[in-house]
Amino acid sequence: MTKHPQEPFRIKMVEPIKLIDREAREAALMRAGHNVFSLRSEEIFIDLLTDSGTGAMSQAQWAAMLNGDETYAGARSYYRLAEVVEEIFGFRYFVPTHQGRAAENILSTCLISPGHYVPSNMHFDTTGANIRARGGRPENLAIDEAQNPVSLHPFKGNIDISKLRDFIERLGPEQIPLGMITVTNNAGGGQPVSMENLREVSSTYKEFGIPFFIDACRFAENAYFIKLREPGYAGKTVLEIAREMFGLADGATMSNKKDGLTNIGGFLAMNDEQLFERARRELVLREGFPTYGGLAGRDLDAMAVGLREVLEEEYLAYRLGQTTYLTELLLQSNIPVIQPPAAHAVYVDASGLFPHIPKEQFPGQALVVELYLEGGIRAVELGSSVFCYPDQDSGEMACPELELVRLSLPRRVYTQSHLDYVAEIMAKIAAKRDEVGGYRMTYAPKLLRHFTARYEPVK
Ligand SMILES: *Cc1c(COP(=O)(O)O)cnc(C)c1O
Repeated sequence: MTKHPQEPFRIKMVEPIKLIDREAREAALMRAGHNVFSLRSEEIFIDLLTDSGTGAMSQAQWAAMLNGDETYAGARSYYRLAEVVEEIFGFRYFVPTHQGRAAENILSTCLISPGHYVPSNMHFDTTGANIRARGGRPENLAIDEAQNPVSLHPFKGNIDISKLRDFIERLGPEQIPLGMITVTNNAGGGQPVSMENLREVSSTYKEFGIPFFIDACRFAENAYFIKLREPGYAGKTVLEIAREMFGLADGATMSNKKDGLTNIGGFLAMNDEQLFERARRELVLREGFPTYGGLAGRDLDAMAVGLREVLEEEYLAYRLGQTTYLTELLLQSNIPVIQPPAAHAVYVDASGLFPHIPKEQFPGQALVVELYLEGGIRAVELGSSVFCYPDQDSGEMACPELELVRLSLPRRVYTQSHLDYVAEIMAKIAAKRDEVGGYRMTYAPKLLRHFTARYEPVK
């Protein structure tokens, strides 16, 4: 084995990709209002927009799909998935959903009323939006190191326990219908949460009688980080660690488009029977019958196989090897990136790269535009475009501390030479950083505005 682990697979089906010329990229970007979400797939060479639903499935997953049981109620596919969910997550009940946010919507609908609060390390955009959509307020209580891009703290996704206590005591537990934690912390650089912190968070919520839900999207990556970094876990399997993580919680929301290794799917799991019954009612109303939840039987089978494959250590070593490799290349070109690297993405600190672009002019958006113009690469801004919201009391815009750009790596899709190319384009942008200017929004909806916003360069 060399420094970076080899891909533990070989390729037997290929999808052509092509770099269109600069003029065509400029035209595409103008048409898209400088928002790369509005580009078409064929206009993109390397697509690092998201690791969500963009992975390559294995031959075992495709084979399992042919066995999909499309029975409306009581399909075999459902029971095959239920067995795996039970084995890994261990909650008493679960409902399949078409993706993660559908699970969040059902959970929010069942538990949140106007004026409620929901603490977490950091809520992801869809989680926060679903809480707000029910009149609730998401609260982010990650440790201070989460805001420091160069801190090498091994678990920057942890919740600050004293902040959490203060928060609960100040508002009163009756205002807090559930508490959450995101593993790994996608909105905060994909940083993991330690088992020790999960234990403390769990006992704090328990002390106040607050149900504890884990946003489990990248549970396997988080469990692997625990194995690598937390004393006492080196000898455990990733499955054992995952089971221990979920044993501390009352439920979980999951997007299988991440660590389920599928292109669609999710679920909501819980121990509380009454909550399960309410969730099932919502499910039937919005998603489908409880044994398919908005999915085809074959999708449930792909999920069942993917959830097992994602726990294989050769896979997880390769996955973390890719982000580590790209991080090292970017650091060699003095590009500020969040350290230590996450497993699913490399996060560039756009304010660090473009200190001359003020926050109000979206330095992250400026980098996203440059990546596309220079190299046909699509990345996503995770800064003020995504995370600024008007404060529910004062109405003033509250914005995140960091202006990040996420280069997400789809699972089992791009090779090391693709990563070399990305690093070369980044170096080219860094070399002419003074020439890059900021942006202003010319259109923005209220919730999840980054998906459909339009921008123009500030003159
Ligand atoms: C992707 C994601 C979600 C939402 O899942 P979807 O399947 O995209 O609806 C929620 N939380 C986190 C941390 C995520 O990364």
